[in-house]
Amino acid sequence: MELGVLAKYPFLREASAYIQSEGVPLEEVLGDPAYARARAAGKARVLEALERGPEPNRVAVAPADQLSQLLAYPVARILVSALEDTYLIRRFALREAIVAEALLKDDSDDVVVHLAAQLPMDLRREDGGFRLHFSDFLRFTSTMRETPWKLINQRVERGFVRLRRDKALRVLRNAIQRHIEQGLPLPVNDEIWSAFRTDLREIRGLLDAKKATFKAEDIGKVSITRFPPCMYNLLAQIQNHENVPHMGRFAIVAFLHHIGLGNEEIFRVFGDVPDFAADVTKYQIDHITGTSSPTEYTPPECSTMKSYGICPGPDRICLSIRHPLSNNRLNGRETRPRRESPATAV
Ligand code: SF4
Repeated sequence: MELGVLAKYPFLREASAYIQSEGVPLEEVLGDPAYARARAAGKARVLEALERGPEPNRVAVAPADQLSQLLAYPVARILVSALEDTYLIRRFALREAIVAEALLKDDSDDVVVHLAAQLPMDLRREDGGFRLHFSDFLRFTSTMRETPWKLINQRVERGFVRLRRDKALRVLRNAIQRHIEQGLPLPVNDEIWSAFRTDLREIRGLLDAKKATFKAEDIGKVSITRFPPCMYNLLAQIQNHENVPHMGRFAIVAFLHHIGLGNEEIFRVFGDVPDFAADVTKYQIDHITGTSSPTEYTPPECSTMKSYGICPGPDRICLSIRHPLSNNRLNGRETRPRRESPATAV
């Protein structure tokens, strides 16, 4: 595959193979002055992910920048990994996915299908558009709650969903984001930390500032930075005005309830959801918390969270637990005794 294509989609398997075949040692990329441009571009990707997101109209890769941009991707992954922050990983993956979607608009269908196969998703060309296996459609649109994305509103033939090109690319964006998220964080050693100390401090400062804008006061005195990654992600998605799938809403409501938030406090958190409907939200919160139902529901177990695609991948503490509420990192705040209950309450 040509360098120009790999520079645009550096998460492809062929991209790392290309770097290896060119004999570019990672140590040199991380420290040699010859690769300063690639390091700067890698850092810029991370900062852009945190600051404002990419501008889809300005994502073209100039021929002279192709190698730097290709190498910038592993640099950016290392920077993101070094800070071990779920929110940063998510923002970075989203930034890369949005850029890829914008670039794919001007690329051939062959590239689209090739890229999809690596994610992997069963996407095929058909009549000027595409068709996607319905299981992949469901898997990669689970966070999109708007009516046009419901399976019932799709044209499904023999197990495949017919999609216009722009819609296929939008689904691909979700798949790319998930693919990148699942590959992070990488192990980062002390040498890398020393090499990027100044850059990492700068990124950490920006990250902390960004997190400070979260409406932590809206959810009482709970330190959200101590949430397990799944709950942190769900809360961040809500506060980023993103749609959260039904199971995600259920999980975060039950979680916030069990760490001691009142229904009104939980209700205020949901004021930011794009398809917020006050009556429905209040009803659901009252139901999940046992206010208007006989059951006080608990969040799903980790295995269920994983099967619904709302576990972003465990951090170190997660490795020894099986339930998000076991993740007792909330400043010593006691959780209430748990009562097992069906995961699909509403
Ligand atoms: S392993 Fe469990 S607690 Fe950790 S992020 Fe996944 S679902 Fe949450």
